[in-house]
Amino acid sequence: MFNLILFGPPGSGKGTQSEKIMEKFGLMHLSTGNLLRQEIADKTPLGMEAKNIMERGHLVPDEVVIGMIDSCIEKHADAKGFLFDGFPRTIAQALALDNLLTVKKAAICKVLALDVDEDELVKRLMKRGETSGRSDDTNEDVIRKRFSVYKAETEPVAEHYNDQGKLEKIKGIGSVDEIFSSLTTCIETEMAAQQSVSAK
Ligand code: ADP
Repeated sequence: MFNLILFGPPGSGKGTQSEKIMEKFGLMHLSTGNLLRQEIADKTPLGMEAKNIMERGHLVPDEVVIGMIDSCIEKHADAKGFLFDGFPRTIAQALALDNLLTVKKAAICKVLALDVDEDELVKRLMKRGETSGRSDDTNEDVIRKRFSVYKAETEPVAEHYNDQGKLEKIKGIGSVDEIFSSLTTCIETEMAAQQSVSAK
């Protein structure tokens, strides 16, 4: 299995690039943000609980998102690999993901971290808020809250994978195609490395 994490702050372009990576490499895209928004649209009890939390820019409890990811991995057991987007967002989520994959005799191959400065991120999110219908993108206080949560809870996840030698930083400023091309180069290099290991 070839499993990737696309990592980066809110607004760094994870969703946009995930679509393109999924198409080019045939990976199964798992976005906890999208899964949660679907729960909200379906008005499930989980969605009702998550809505309030997301609107305030806080994180949904670990056990909720870990459960969602666990059942998605089970449901797509025959996938050739997963592309995780917006997950893991805490150290507890990262440890749980590592365990879930170990049980499947798999692992995260690479963490691609999109690097974008905060001023650019706020601009992008406010702009997205004009059209996305996402209430968490229209209020600057909520956006700032999401950044502070990102710094406190999510940045340590990058350290966790850096310690495993799996973190790769990618410049997240430029055109969508330029950024995609940097990501593609990294993914292809990693895939070739995996193949040469498994051929031995
Ligand atoms: P963004 O990266 O632009 O903030 P997402 O769609 O990834 O957007 O997430 C939107 C919101 O959904 C987050 O602010 C958070 O409340 C919730 N959420 C998404 N993924 C997770 C996760 N892995 N753990 C906890 N909460 C999450």
